[in-house]
Amino acid sequence: MKITRTCGECGVPMGIARNLAWNPDGTITQRKDPLHRLIFFESENLDRLWGRLSEILGVTGEHIREVVVESKSRATRAFLRRTLPWGVELIARVIGYRSMMSAIESQGLVMGYGKITLGGQYPRRGRPERVTVYIEDPYSLPFFCGDFKGAAEVLERRWAKVTEQPLDSRRHQVDVTLGEERLGEESFILREERAEKPGDMRFDPCPRCGTPLELRRFSWDLVSGVIREARSGRRLAFFGTAGMRAVFEELTHELGERVSDAIIEVERENALAALSAEEAASGYEGLRMMAAVRGLGLLTALEIDQSGLRLRMSNPAIPEYIVGLALGVFELVTGKRGSQRWRLEPDGDLIAEVTPA
Ligand SMILES: [Zn+2]
Repeated sequence: MKITRTCGECGVPMGIARNLAWNPDGTITQRKDPLHRLIFFESENLDRLWGRLSEILGVTGEHIREVVVESKSRATRAFLRRTLPWGVELIARVIGYRSMMSAIESQGLVMGYGKITLGGQYPRRGRPERVTVYIEDPYSLPFFCGDFKGAAEVLERRWAKVTEQPLDSRRHQVDVTLGEERLGEESFILREERAEKPGDMRFDPCPRCGTPLELRRFSWDLVSGVIREARSGRRLAFFGTAGMRAVFEELTHELGERVSDAIIEVERENALAALSAEEAASGYEGLRMMAAVRGLGLLTALEIDQSGLRLRMSNPAIPEYIVGLALGVFELVTGKRGSQRWRLEPDGDLIAEVTPA
């Protein structure tokens, strides 16, 4: 199956239709690995998020980048270890990096990561010491570096270092250099959170490929690996939530609880920049659909008026994102700046409240 072939009815690539499931509980998961949860989210926010976090938290951009690359590579190792067949080292040896990379390249195109091409490996035969790839229009350069580092580490079972340099305004060269030290079993462990609550979300399926018809609002450019919402032009990509959580948890571990408020603030800004007033005012049904198509979780209650916004969501993907979105929605609907309070219930539900600031 060519995963970059698209559905003649809705335009969604077969690599998406066959591999991802939009579930009634408001989640998107990998069909072969239901533990792997993803969100389909505005990706231009992401590099902006790293930049703003460094400003708000007062740490260097370089440090944020290191944390992002390390945490993302850890999530990628855990994911690949679960999904790749046993003996992957042997497979890599037999089919070679070139075939591996061609699979990664098509994957990148359908997931919205940009255009990835293999630059070469050194030495040309045998165990590589260094592998080079080029990426054009990356969805997030630190995320891509983390993914590539994690993939090389799983294939070679050795720790790797990753460096990148810009070639021009769109293209980057990324080099992975493999070390001598072998990976231990503990380097593959990552806590995954399975969605706990069943849900009743219903999507109208495309009659041909079965994905939600809502996805017709997005257009896939499979030459450049860029997905955009057709009306607004906003760029989106699919992200594993475990990778994002790993990044946020590491930053919180290092810098304290203020990380959570910083993420909420940046997502508020992103929501204001990205959402139209019409989308913000689309009410319970509109926002419930919008959240579920993005795999953010299942909205089960929402009230908005001038006095505030109250919401409840089952299986929230990244609570800070949803709280930031809630602040943005409140501000767009009422014209007032809000302040937020939120908590997770024992059953995992997110309760968030916004009141005028
Ligand atoms: Zn279709």
